[in-house]
Amino acid sequence: MMIPSNRNKVIVIGGGIHGCATAYFLAKRGQTVTVVEKDHIARHASGVNAGGVRTLGRDLAEIPLSLASMDLWKKLHSEIGVYAQAFHPSFYLKVAIDEEGYALGSARAEALKHAGYNHEFWLDASDVQDRLPKLTTPTYGGFLVEGDGWARPWLIVRGFAQGARQYGAEIIEKCNVFGLELRQNCWYLKTDKGVFEADYVVNCAGAWAADLAFQSGEPKAPLSAYAPMLAVTESKPPILPAVIGVLGHTLSLKQLDTGQFVIGGGVRASANLSENSGEVVLPELRESMQLAARLFSDISNAQIIRCWSGIEGYMPDNLPIIGHGKQPGLIHGFGFSAHGFQLGPAVGEVLADLVMGQQPRVPLDAFRPDRF
Ligand SMILES: Cc1cc2nc3c(=O)[nH]c(=O)nc-3n(C[C@H](O)[C@H](O)[C@H](O)COP(=O)(O)OP(=O)(O)OC[C@H]3O[C@@H](n4cnc5c(N)ncnc54)[C@H](O)[C@@H]3O)c2cc1C
Repeated sequence: MMIPSNRNKVIVIGGGIHGCATAYFLAKRGQTVTVVEKDHIARHASGVNAGGVRTLGRDLAEIPLSLASMDLWKKLHSEIGVYAQAFHPSFYLKVAIDEEGYALGSARAEALKHAGYNHEFWLDASDVQDRLPKLTTPTYGGFLVEGDGWARPWLIVRGFAQGARQYGAEIIEKCNVFGLELRQNCWYLKTDKGVFEADYVVNCAGAWAADLAFQSGEPKAPLSAYAPMLAVTESKPPILPAVIGVLGHTLSLKQLDTGQFVIGGGVRASANLSENSGEVVLPELRESMQLAARLFSDISNAQIIRCWSGIEGYMPDNLPIIGHGKQPGLIHGFGFSAHGFQLGPAVGEVLADLVMGQQPRVPLDAFRPDRF
């Protein structure tokens, strides 16, 4: 049953991409919604990630959500206007550079075929080389997705936040939620800006979300916090028209329109939630940098100008938690395990659906909060 407009109040905890996109879709549909963010919009994973907008290589259970999200990315301009220019669609290529990678690719091709998905195409080695003329390592071929690409993440989050505001949402920064309690069908949120009341709470608190939920009386979700790391180089002439991954290796590589290479792909250090901080361990990032330079020898001449990390929440099965909590009026969206940025627009839409009692357009069973 749909809740009547402007009667029930929704509070979204967390001003990352999932919180802001949820607020956007709720406000657009006429709901009264407030986002409370302990730091500022896009301060954590959503603002500092690699900006990879990738449907390629998703867990089979996540593909419908990822494809639904890509539909929204493609028409983002009609949702967030000029901020959508921060998305640069191109193509994504995940290549095999050894026999192990080729075996992984073959198994993946079989699994995709069996499940009926055809958005990832296998290219043979010569087609890969045609697509990437500056490639300096032979490949066994690779998966291609046209239309995947990269974005400047903090601009996309700001776009959703700004869009939400334009539809009447309130966004309150520097507002830490430290208590969350349900009494007589009303949620009370204790914050450093006073107590807020809500009929619905959407928990998009990223790596902090499981502790917050547990404190409110939910079962403890097995969420672990880590700090995935990235490096960016100085600007170089354009050589790389795609985002690159390597089957069986942790590399994600792209060249921005500034000419800078962004290198990462999953190597992670430790995170400290109470101090809002993540480590950077250079020796562990080095492997990704060396692999990038092996694939494109031009990269070996590019100086690294900065390394950083962001705090992210990981689930044991690398799938997010999206769904109703145990208690009425509490809805969770967290645990995106270092690949949630691309999912953001669709997650915002499905979380808004759940608040409003509407049927999400993709199945969410694999993401049930009670699956552990
Ligand atoms: C370095 C790095 C690279 C990545 N690269 C990619 C990529 O290329 N592609 C991709 O798809 N994904 C990528 N990811 C993953 C992606 O960034 C995340 O999955 C996604 O941004 C998570 O968004 P979120 O809104 O759930 O969480 P967050 O962005 O962490 O937002 C949660 C917010 O909740 C706030 N909050 C927490 N507790 C409270 C509280 N008690 N009260 C108020 N506010 C609170 C936090 O301050 C935070 O701002 C990467 C992540 C990192 C860190």
